[in-house]
Amino acid sequence: MNAESNLDVEDPQITQIRQSVIALCGNFPGEYWRDLDQKREYPTAFVRALTEAGFLAVLIPEEYGGSGLGLTAAAAVLEEIQRSGCNGAACHAQMYIMGTILRHGSAEQKARWLPRIASGELRLQAFGVSEPSNGTDTLSLKTRAVRQGDHYIVNGQKIWTSRAEHSDLMLLLARTTPKEEAKSRSHGLSVFVVDMQKAVGNGMTIKPIRTMINHSTTQVFFDDMKVPAENLLGEEGQGFKYILTGMNAERVLIGAETIGDARWFIKKAVDYANGRNVFGGPISKNQGIQFPIAKAYAQTEAANLMVQKAARLYEQGKDIGAEANMAKMLAAEASWAAADMCLQTHGGYGFAEEYDVERKLRETRLYQIAPISTNLILSYLAEHVLGMPRSY
Ligand SMILES: Cc1cc2nc3c(=O)[nH]c(=O)nc-3n(C[C@H](O)[C@H](O)[C@H](O)COP(=O)(O)OP(=O)(O)OC[C@H]3O[C@@H](n4cnc5c(N)ncnc54)[C@H](O)[C@@H]3O)c2cc1C
Repeated sequence: MNAESNLDVEDPQITQIRQSVIALCGNFPGEYWRDLDQKREYPTAFVRALTEAGFLAVLIPEEYGGSGLGLTAAAAVLEEIQRSGCNGAACHAQMYIMGTILRHGSAEQKARWLPRIASGELRLQAFGVSEPSNGTDTLSLKTRAVRQGDHYIVNGQKIWTSRAEHSDLMLLLARTTPKEEAKSRSHGLSVFVVDMQKAVGNGMTIKPIRTMINHSTTQVFFDDMKVPAENLLGEEGQGFKYILTGMNAERVLIGAETIGDARWFIKKAVDYANGRNVFGGPISKNQGIQFPIAKAYAQTEAANLMVQKAARLYEQGKDIGAEANMAKMLAAEASWAAADMCLQTHGGYGFAEEYDVERKLRETRLYQIAPISTNLILSYLAEHVLGMPRSY
């Protein structure tokens, strides 16, 4: 099978990164993930290994202790993690959440946090945006941050704040100007870096949510939580604008992860089909088995082109709203199609945990919903690219 098309054309440095990630992931086989999945435990050893190898700091500039590489390199890291059967969701946010500090933090804030994030001393992988009452309608979020002297006092609630129990810092989006007083629809939200070590038990309460995947996601409650004013990033009221650029990078990286998942499913299906003999020969000789695998392969390769294009344009400083959304949607759909195909190819054995197919299928399904659901991506394209009226 020639599923190596990325390796044919890319920068040798990226190829080298892929090979190093594959070697590292070899130490974390299916049994490791299955065991954690059953216990719903955090992959501490895996995250430590990635951190020590420097893979989570690829996007941090060298002056702050990272590798100073671009989104293409970060995408390669995450794709290979998923393609190796591992799950980068435990730590992918450590790579990109810091981008908001990098782009909008003061020199003092960057010096305070980025070197310690790069070294892994501090984990910044909790992103507090979603709330129970407003769902995807981020601009209606209700968590309030009110300035009192040299602090903000925060009250409200977040939901689906993943990795909150395994993070030292949280990037928090909160309302600083009441919606009715805001200058525009997107004005009035601000971004803070919250020191979770200090906040837990002092106004912050974290409650885990058990889900169909091992994702360490939580609800976070704020009850008069004090955040020093010096932890506000950029200008008060401009926070929504700041996180949008970060969200585009996130969508490209999630796209890369789902390409990795799709490639894992395709390889798994080919290997199984070639080795499974019924009716006197391998099931792979039947076109009813071959065609769905070939189709998943074609769909994945096409989606990957959009992921790579979006990453390149982002590195050139272009606005990639459309490309980032399309990359995430197409890649997540390709991985889901590949997952379904892989399960079908395995027949009954696909349901057995030891094959990892059912686990990976559950894990990859998330990405049609988070970080943004398919309907909202289609609405974005319809309105902002194709010029049709806003439907909501
Ligand atoms: C496991 C997990 C981890 C997550 N991690 C994080 C995290 O770390 N940080 C964070 O902030 N959030 C996180 N999220 C939240 C995630 O980003 C949201 O679940 C997602 O954005 C969808 O929001 P919602 O669930 O409130 O759905 P809703 O907004 O309630 O939408 C429900 C359904 O209705 C559809 N819909 C809504 N409005 C429209 C419309 N106008 N037109 C057409 N269809 C519409 C949606 O597409 C969706 O299918 C996570 C979610 C999950 C499940």
